[in-house]
Amino acid sequence: MAETQTESLSIPVLGMSCAACQHHVEEALKATDGVESARVDLMAHRAAVEFDPAKVAPELLLQAIRSAGYDAVLPRVGSSKVEKETRDWLQELKVGLTIFFGVVAMVLSMPLMSESGPLDRLMMHILPQIYDLPGDLIRWSLLIVTVFLMIWAGWTVFESAVRAAQHGATNMNTLVSLGTGAAFLYSLYATVAPAPDRHVYFDAVLLILGFMLLGKTLEAAAKKRALSALDALTRLRPLTARVMRDGQEVEAPLEEVQAGDSVVVRPGERFPVDGTILEGRTTVDESMLTGESTPIAREQGDKVLAGSLNYDGAVLVRAQSLGSDTMLEQIARMVEQAQSSRAPMERLADKASSIFVPVVLALAGITFLTWLLVAQNFQLALASTVAVLVIACPCAMGLAVPAALTVAVGRAAQLGVLFKGGEALERLTKLDAVVLDKTGTLTVGRPTLTTIRALPGYDELDLLALAASAEEHSNHPLAHAIVERAKGRNLDWPPARDVSVTPGRGVRAVVEGLEVILGNDAHFRESQIRIPETVQPPRMGVTRLWMAVDGQPTGYFETRDVLRPDATAAVSALHSKGLRVVMLTGDSVSAATPIAEQAGIRELEAGLSPTGKLERIRSLQKGGLKVAMVGDGINDAGALAQSDAGIAMGSGTELAQETGDLILLREEPSSIPAAIDLADSTLRVMRQNLIWAAGYNVIGIPLAAGLLYPSFHILLSPWVAAAAMALSSVSVLSNSLKLRRWQPKALEITPAGIN
Ligand code: ADP
Ligand code: MG
Repeated sequence: MAETQTESLSIPVLGMSCAACQHHVEEALKATDGVESARVDLMAHRAAVEFDPAKVAPELLLQAIRSAGYDAVLPRVGSSKVEKETRDWLQELKVGLTIFFGVVAMVLSMPLMSESGPLDRLMMHILPQIYDLPGDLIRWSLLIVTVFLMIWAGWTVFESAVRAAQHGATNMNTLVSLGTGAAFLYSLYATVAPAPDRHVYFDAVLLILGFMLLGKTLEAAAKKRALSALDALTRLRPLTARVMRDGQEVEAPLEEVQAGDSVVVRPGERFPVDGTILEGRTTVDESMLTGESTPIAREQGDKVLAGSLNYDGAVLVRAQSLGSDTMLEQIARMVEQAQSSRAPMERLADKASSIFVPVVLALAGITFLTWLLVAQNFQLALASTVAVLVIACPCAMGLAVPAALTVAVGRAAQLGVLFKGGEALERLTKLDAVVLDKTGTLTVGRPTLTTIRALPGYDELDLLALAASAEEHSNHPLAHAIVERAKGRNLDWPPARDVSVTPGRGVRAVVEGLEVILGNDAHFRESQIRIPETVQPPRMGVTRLWMAVDGQPTGYFETRDVLRPDATAAVSALHSKGLRVVMLTGDSVSAATPIAEQAGIRELEAGLSPTGKLERIRSLQKGGLKVAMVGDGINDAGALAQSDAGIAMGSGTELAQETGDLILLREEPSSIPAAIDLADSTLRVMRQNLIWAAGYNVIGIPLAAGLLYPSFHILLSPWVAAAAMALSSVSVLSNSLKLRRWQPKALEITPAGIN
């Protein structure tokens, strides 16, 4: 098999304004040879492309995007912030002037109207002077101003429409261009060859463009705000670090720091790297990473994370992960990916809007012909056609889902819940059961060693040293307990080789020529080692770890773990949502039962191997249930992947975090019901948005087409249609922004009990 290499690139795309545009760009990229996958994010104006660099150069990707009618740039590192701000300012000026002159044009056009309405009579009162101006002067001045503004402010709109048309495609700009184009051409004709009762529509042209640009500017502002959670995250990391070089503190740019360097971090500074404390103790605030606001004590040997705040101690840190490998950057990337991933609901909006534009064009044609042929009224035909084209812009539709998703994922990250994608969020809303792992998920996962028992003929400390040799290579919580105790006793232990870890069972290693086996009953059974019958079974709530040397049982260790303080509250919150809650553990029944009871879980299965956990999930699913799995260990990874929503504990192993669909950065089970609640609220907002966007078109189009005119004389004038269009996008965005203030329900947390 030929080795293929994929590269991924995130390309900023310009000129996209609706779901249809997003669809076009995506299709164009996917049709390019060598592109493996392409995903376009309307909210972030970005295309995430995976491609084979041997087959396609990044420039060709740009060409594909351009040929679809949009513009694109290759990402550049460190793009200047100032430039962006001046552009925003210019954009606002364009919007302001266009709308201002639109209003001026409306006022000045009044004297040109043949019929006078109430507004007209009012104007005559307030500004009688304009009624003395020659009509030609008004028309020609408005023509000049309009042409100028159409080119200066409206250029991007027309350009995008033309480019799309060149490739047989249509988008929202097509509708707006046709609408304003029709109004402009008619007005141009009326100006150049004025007949006495010919009205000009320069006001409509300008107001439509103005409102449309206003909508876009507001959208951009809202998007920026929605993405700001992410921005805040990545801006946290300091740019320099104080590194020890030959016993001297040297301030170095972060790029020059290497793994293994010792870095000095003073109180009040943020950690520049992920690493371990070598010297000193301090309290740190990891709230930006985990949402957890209580400062945490950290001392020698503890891990610290880049971006977290060092409160009160000066510490020396050994750098481990740098730059893009740090937890901070990984979180940022994950949030970004989740925001640009597609929720299933979004595909619906996509499809809807890609058939929408042609349908609207047809409706506009029918409107025009009907008014012209049936009512013989060219004025009304033109006005209502323009209004139909403008009001039908599906931009609100395109924003409905991504806006809510972006805000929700950002908010979740602030609360310590990392969603990897929109799909996970949607699946959380459809659950029937939640399956929880015990050790490290419901329990703190920092078991204390309560007993070391050596069988006759063996020495406790010898056993502890041998056990530490083997367990040093495992990152299971039980292994930590043993190694910690061995360290506490100041033991020295020999190195181990041929270490093999069996998830859910135990470890095996060769230490000084002796074969050491540590694990639970099942591990012994599977290794054909008999558990001595004379030994009493462990008491309830205790996890017993057997040890054997060269096939002979030599003794056991016993540990106790504590339920997490909010576990019981979390389980009862899940129950009250009508969810079935099940505990699956690799630990023994006697160890797990009290924990389950204390947490209020009625269904429990113990002694499970990793495949056992996976199969339990499968059988629940076969029974027609949608199942979420929450776990932290390597032995949970299979179950996490099989489940409908895999939830990994942030404190858990990397594998669990890689397989999970979402990660709970706070080590709190109460994040589970919170995540489900947030997902529910998000879906509700998405649905409201879609209904609003669709309903708006359903009502707006017939109104604009003049359906009510014959009986009620109600007709949307083109500029009202433009204002309504802008308003619908803005309301979809502001409806989504309310998720920024979303708060989890407060759970009643009783003080932690020890089992
Ligand atoms: P849970 O499913 O509750 O998270 P685990 O599957 O992590 O529990 O562990 C199940 C059992 O497997 C533990 O109780 C222990 O007996 C055994 N075990 C797993 N890893 C190790 C290890 N490194 N050393 C000793 N025993 C282990
Ligand atoms: Mg576990």
